[in-house]
Amino acid sequence: MDLNQLFQNIDIEMLLPELNPTKRSTYYHLICPFCQKKEAYIPNKEKLKPVIICNRKNKCGQIIPIWTYLKEFRGLSNKEIFKLLTGYEDNYKIPSNNKSTKIKIKIIRKPLKIPKAPKTISLTENIKNFKYLDIESKFQTIITYIYAFSLKTNQTPKINYYASRKIYYTKNIGFLSREDMFELTDKLANLFDYKSLTQFGIFLKGKMKFNFSSFAIVPSFDIYTNLITALRFRNIYPSKFKELEMSSQRLLNPLPYPLTLNKLKKFDTFYFTEGHIDALSLKKINVVGVEGIGSFNPINFQFFKDKTIIIAFDKDKAGFEGSLNLAKKAKEYGVRVKFLNWDPKYGKDINELLINNNLHKTYISDNLDFISSKNE
Ligand SMILES: [Zn+2]
Repeated sequence: MDLNQLFQNIDIEMLLPELNPTKRSTYYHLICPFCQKKEAYIPNKEKLKPVIICNRKNKCGQIIPIWTYLKEFRGLSNKEIFKLLTGYEDNYKIPSNNKSTKIKIKIIRKPLKIPKAPKTISLTENIKNFKYLDIESKFQTIITYIYAFSLKTNQTPKINYYASRKIYYTKNIGFLSREDMFELTDKLANLFDYKSLTQFGIFLKGKMKFNFSSFAIVPSFDIYTNLITALRFRNIYPSKFKELEMSSQRLLNPLPYPLTLNKLKKFDTFYFTEGHIDALSLKKINVVGVEGIGSFNPINFQFFKDKTIIIAFDKDKAGFEGSLNLAKKAKEYGVRVKFLNWDPKYGKDINELLINNNLHKTYISDNLDFISSKNE
């Protein structure tokens, strides 16, 4: 099957309405499914390359084939995508006179369930058999290796960074200085093939991509295996690149730190904070640090069905709107929603409440009560 040819007959504006595509002379301009900014494009010159490319090079810059997008974000199977694109049921056989294609948009979500126990995978074995692994396992193996390495470096700068925010429990967060990253570059180049390292966006021009600063390494834990599904690089020095993600086109639909399978099984209530700093500041175990509403794939609310979430976003305009948005999406999945309220004079976010010794001034209710007037 020639994918390029198949996509040439497709009206992208009809195929991907949720990304709001606009047709231009040589490309489609559309919303990036990863960062939610309307700064992505699909090339459309001569032959349409079936791939969505985010133009925000240093901030997002994700690239995803449309087929993969339909699979991962719409939850469609290969068969369903084939039918969506061609209108034909038959396995990968397109009639030669297939010119105009009717597209029916059907958003099917693959049901997600909390697994009973994670599959134990040996990192050493995976490294040994690397070339035989599937693409998801390859990516998980590399980032789990990076994560394990980042836990064994000199952790002092990380410890100081969090301590200045009154956070002292950071043992499952790693650290990589620039020097660590040069050492890690050599190790990765020895263990894994260059093609995979580049393809997954871990290497850029033969070196680890984010080697311009020192980073705290925040993992997303896999609930199906003992490996890692994504890494966030938190720049510990002031910079416009505050946080970068290694998530390989969100292949694995990562869950936010510090959520784990055990916690999902154990707790019926979860606090949702803006980011991992607030998650750690809350001093609770049942907490989920959502890095902005756009980064939390709502299909993951299926894991929280019949549970209660307590949204504890910032008390500013963005936090207020984000709270209501997240609440709306959660309710669609049968999740009960409450809010953590406090007067913003005690601190605009959870970390400020902690620093000001005001965490006890918060209370839970069914409504969102406060919005800071000075931030409007
Ligand atoms: Zn983007």
